Amino acid sequence: MTTTSVIELKRSALANNLDFIRNHIHSHSKISSVVKGNAYGHGTREFVSLAESEGIDHFSVFSADEAEQVFNCKKPGTTIMIMGWLENEQVEWAIENDVEFYIFDLNFVNEAIEASKKVKKPAKVHIEVETGMNRTGFKNKTLREVISLIEDNKECFNIKGLCTHYAGAESIANHVRIQKQIRNFNRIYRNLASNGIKPDLRHTACSAAAMNYPGTCMDMVRIGILQYGFWPSPETFIQYAHRQTDKSDPLTRVLKWKSKIMTIKEVKEGDFISYGTNYLAQENKKIAVIPVGYSSGYNRVLSNQGRVLINETFANVIGLVNMNMMIVDVTRINSVKRGDEVVLIGRQGDHEITVNSFSAMSDSMNYEMLVRLPQNIERRIVN
Ligand SMILES: *Cc1c(COP(=O)(O)O)cnc(C)c1O
Repeated sequence: MTTTSVIELKRSALANNLDFIRNHIHSHSKISSVVKGNAYGHGTREFVSLAESEGIDHFSVFSADEAEQVFNCKKPGTTIMIMGWLENEQVEWAIENDVEFYIFDLNFVNEAIEASKKVKKPAKVHIEVETGMNRTGFKNKTLREVISLIEDNKECFNIKGLCTHYAGAESIANHVRIQKQIRNFNRIYRNLASNGIKPDLRHTACSAAAMNYPGTCMDMVRIGILQYGFWPSPETFIQYAHRQTDKSDPLTRVLKWKSKIMTIKEVKEGDFISYGTNYLAQENKKIAVIPVGYSSGYNRVLSNQGRVLINETFANVIGLVNMNMMIVDVTRINSVKRGDEVVLIGRQGDHEITVNSFSAMSDSMNYEMLVRLPQNIERRIVN
């Protein structure tokens, strides 16, 4: 059954973004497409198949349940990498199915050894090292223990990668900290190499690092937000544009969120609209009801603030956003009718509702806005 709103994923937009990314990283850096958080709200299943058809064969997720979603829809030969959390019993599943995972905790390494012995297959692991973010990743002292554990249990491990994550590469304010992390990482890599440990892939860069610190691209980059057509921060775009003669945004948004007009009605001047006394009609109004509310991911903070596109014209959200509906002002839009397309995020004609404008009004970042898009909204791939 179609849902009251639909999220469209545009193939040509993803192709454009991947081209842009490929042109901006070293030619030998592999792209791992980051699809945690339901592919940043785009929908894992649809996004994975779209990305695969555009040449992606490596996906990164946060947890084992996310890995399973990708596992169930990916092509044979596509690699999945878990960058975060898996429970003890999920380790066996991962090893059995060639799902790769980060190791960042000594107890976890022991669990992996046990699971590998049980499954009789080596675990494909990425050693995450602490370089200065102070989140997950082995500190130097523990790293030595880990290495000797791995050496003592060689048959249990296939060391796929060495990795770390930067603490805010999207902001120049963190420049010194990032530079220090890069130096730390390179030192750790050299130390391991001199001890005979040579991971296949060094990977440290997220979108912002790949754009702002090209040296971080190494053997593989973990690209999330850029591939969906968004900059990690306004600053990252400005830094990029500064180096270009053409200042236009080279990225294209993959996602469009749209619905339809449910019904249209006239309201007399002086009447309140929707619950309570939040909105008073100061003139005779024509309003359209949209079957999207905060249960569909339209933030209630956008009451009296949000905008949508109808007939290529902006229409304001008036009154409170309800659980399943909201009301927009179409007084000045001609010939609107039941069933007309309503764009909540994305383009219609020459106009666009950006995720950014959305996020700014609801005081969240575009990453957060995107991942909050409910999983049960239908996703459709369009060309
Ligand atoms: C989310 C994430 C990324 C991707 O970040 P973007 O800013 O979306 O490119 C890369 N690495 C790790 C460890 C992550 O958690």
